[in-house]
Amino acid sequence: MARLLARPGHAAAIGPCVIEIDGGMIRRIRPAAPDDGAPLPVLAMPALADAHDHGRGLRSLAIGAADAPLELWISRLGAEPVVDPYLRAGAAFARLAESGVCAVNHCHNTQDGRALLEEARGVARAASAVGIRVGFAVPFAGRNPLVYGDERALLTALGPRAQAEAAARRGRTLEEGLALVERIAELEGPCFSVQYGPVGPQWVEDGALRAIARASAETGRRVHMHLFETQTQRDWADARYEGGLVAHLDRIGLLSDRLTLAHAVWLRPDEAELLAERGVTISLNPSSNLRLRSGLAPAALFHRAGLGFGIGLDGMSLDDDDDMLREVRLLRHLANAAQPGSHEEAIPVPALLDAAFVTGRRSIVGDDGGGRLQAGAPCDLMLLDLPALAGDVLDPDPDLIPLLLGRASRRHVRGMMVAGRMVVADGACTGVDRPAIEQALLSQARDVAARVARDPAWQQAREEGIRRFYAYNHHLLPDPDPEEAKKHHRRDDRR
Ligand SMILES: [Zn+2]
Repeated sequence: MARLLARPGHAAAIGPCVIEIDGGMIRRIRPAAPDDGAPLPVLAMPALADAHDHGRGLRSLAIGAADAPLELWISRLGAEPVVDPYLRAGAAFARLAESGVCAVNHCHNTQDGRALLEEARGVARAASAVGIRVGFAVPFAGRNPLVYGDERALLTALGPRAQAEAAARRGRTLEEGLALVERIAELEGPCFSVQYGPVGPQWVEDGALRAIARASAETGRRVHMHLFETQTQRDWADARYEGGLVAHLDRIGLLSDRLTLAHAVWLRPDEAELLAERGVTISLNPSSNLRLRSGLAPAALFHRAGLGFGIGLDGMSLDDDDDMLREVRLLRHLANAAQPGSHEEAIPVPALLDAAFVTGRRSIVGDDGGGRLQAGAPCDLMLLDLPALAGDVLDPDPDLIPLLLGRASRRHVRGMMVAGRMVVADGACTGVDRPAIEQALLSQARDVAARVARDPAWQQAREEGIRRFYAYNHHLLPDPDPEEAKKHHRRDDRR
């Protein structure tokens, strides 16, 4: 029995109420009666959805990848030690759960290209153990692993080591990737579902995107992809796709209500309108866009265009603490700051809260009626510490929305239920011992890292090469003829 905010942004808090649960669903919500006992000092409300993340148990700062422009930062991620996929995802999911997140789009970053199925098994097991709903995007990538564009001059400049690394890259073929999606789909259950995860258009060949669009239409499975995270990516695309990349994606059938696009920082108004028409969902990732210097996504424009959006942490929350409630606040403040002088909310509060509770969730589990507490909806709710949130407010019955938007953070999350199962109680995961998982992950990672020789000078040289590649606009040059590129690699092999 608790105070109840059933539809945040659409109806005021009521209560105390009793939520009756049956088979993981809300059967009925009724006003508390005298014999229900004393009300708990909590606010019950829908649990949050994280519309874009990567499930990295070791945060990027922990592996030595300092915040930097995305194109440089990505090159640092190779320092992550290969660890048990269960521990890796389990630590991340447990932190999310304790932040009030009941559902997450997990864009899987493969640790070992040959072990994706094994990794997926570990992630699925972690999802069930923690008890949150995970949409697993199976990664597809096939081009531009080092830079967007012709890497040959860069490899030559970097010397034999870079060439050896490039030769050792072993990607999955499109067919292998599509077959793996089917294998991984065998793991599907209440906490785990599968999506196609083309990593981003600059990393996936057009033919593969076309095949994924077709497969998604045939199977009904969702697609999750990064798009226009940085201006460099936008410029790369503008130099290659006459008429625009977004129009091209539309022509090949990728734009549909099954598609989620992460970031979209550099989307133009006409493109936002087209995406809205096709029913595409965006994941806005404000912290990540700040830390990786990607820019500010035009969230108000998306709202005006009727383009649906959720909110994602991307493993890069501002304070590196996976705080989803703070992320909502950050998005709101950044969107308002982008229209100085206006006395209107850039994103009206109901739309902002729908992003956090409803729209992002749909991009993970589909429209299951969740994100609102009502009869017939899944019982996915969180409990916030009401005295901590509102104890200093003079009004004995205050409007809770300004407090939620203005100060709520993960420290207020006392409990969470997913499908009626209490997965967080007293602020801690019940299904796993989060500190123990984090500790096991850390000691395993330290063991692995100790066996790998660090070479900061090499990393620095590589970054300098990447920096120069973009500074000289090599990403705007035409792609090499595939036959030419092959010849070059053969020449490298002989060296
Ligand atoms: Zn991402």
